[in-house]
Amino acid sequence: MSNNVTIIGAGPAGMTAALFAARADARVRLIDSNTMVGRKLLVTGSGRANLTNQQIDANRYTCADPAWMQTLLGQFGHAELIRFLESIGVLTFSTPDGWCYPVSESAQTVVDAFENALNLAKVELVLNTKVMAIRSYQQGYSLTLDSGVVLNCERLIVAAGGKAYPTLGSRGELFGSLKALGHSVLPLSPALAPVTCEMKPYQKLLGVRLDARASLYQGSTLLAETTGNLIFTQWGLNGPAVMDLSHHISARSCAKLELHLNPLFAIEPALRALIQNQRNTPTPLCVLLGAVLPPKMPPVLLSKAGFSADVLINELNNAQIEKLFRLLTALPFKVTGVRGFEYCQISAGGVPVSEVDPLNMRSRLTPNLALVGETLDVVGPCGGFNLQFAFSSGAVAGMHVPK
Ligand SMILES: Cc1cc2nc3c(=O)[nH]c(=O)nc-3n(C[C@H](O)[C@H](O)[C@H](O)COP(=O)(O)OP(=O)(O)OC[C@H]3O[C@@H](n4cnc5c(N)ncnc54)[C@H](O)[C@@H]3O)c2cc1C
Repeated sequence: MSNNVTIIGAGPAGMTAALFAARADARVRLIDSNTMVGRKLLVTGSGRANLTNQQIDANRYTCADPAWMQTLLGQFGHAELIRFLESIGVLTFSTPDGWCYPVSESAQTVVDAFENALNLAKVELVLNTKVMAIRSYQQGYSLTLDSGVVLNCERLIVAAGGKAYPTLGSRGELFGSLKALGHSVLPLSPALAPVTCEMKPYQKLLGVRLDARASLYQGSTLLAETTGNLIFTQWGLNGPAVMDLSHHISARSCAKLELHLNPLFAIEPALRALIQNQRNTPTPLCVLLGAVLPPKMPPVLLSKAGFSADVLINELNNAQIEKLFRLLTALPFKVTGVRGFEYCQISAGGVPVSEVDPLNMRSRLTPNLALVGETLDVVGPCGGFNLQFAFSSGAVAGMHVPK
């Protein structure tokens, strides 16, 4: 058998697999339905591409088997990715909280660097071409293209993504073929998606942005908790703090769920000290809350706690102040769902990781096939974790294409 490999999907996972396979002297053909490579990569991080994170850690991923993820990242983790990106001309920097971006702060330059590297490596690009079906053929696979042409290949890497943001190319169309080849496909649902909530009580806060701890409850059971930035919108909450919880919500579509926001998670002692200092003065509570919260919030929160907007701190007894703190540290939102695939950053579900060997990303069920990136059932939090997974799985598949 020759060392040819065909890759479906020129996203971050497929492009990285192609480059590593080419470095291992394979002849590589890379197919994508888009007219360019890296179409989704181009919009990541709001056009800045949050490529990875200094705190990449297997345990931060929602993955059925953390040891599987550890094995993968042990071969190609954060440091290896930074070196690889440098080798194709992408220099990176990290924000103080560890999120890594290209120095250019432009996803376009990252896509340009990948495209250049693919050309230098003589990877055959087959763009504007959709694979409609994959079937086993002799010891390899036959791919039916949208033109009707059938391509045969000896080795195949499927890097066709999931179902998130379908306008950018990934619509989950090949999961049926993967099933026919013997793989399981777990139901796909939106992840890293905005969360829809009953917003009537918070109409006056639309557009307010803040950092908060977000805790997701089903009854009195805490399901998950995150901390980060979020924004109040017409239909609910958006931003990393709630997006990181969204796969827990879409997995429980019929459950009654509540989100509690704590905007004081880092500053409660400072606010308590401020209130204590002014405790016996006729200072409006609004002014004190205004020291730590966005200006639209104090009047809304005071009204929700049953106080007038101009209540003075020396008019309240200690029990009333504690009541206010209970509200401020657990602001309740009735969750109604998450926004759909059109609005989410990745999809949960797909092929279970147990069906793929993390040492080489090859299918454990069918020969000469590797599966990488979002096609697999892995959800990372916001902050560069999902691109890291796509790059890592692609690199490991590419470097282990059999000679
Ligand atoms: C708006 C947005 C912002 C994001 N921001 C970030 C971020 O800043 N940091 C981060 O870590 N993650 C981010 N993500 C997630 C990240 O983009 C994904 O994790 C990553 O793109 C997955 O890579 P992939 O190669 O597995 O799949 P994809 O990037 O989806 O690539 C799959 C490719 O396969 C092609 N394809 C699919 N089916 C076929 C077919 N039948 N025939 C031919 N070609 C096919 C598609 O056209 C596509 O180009 C963001 C996602 C979105 C939508």
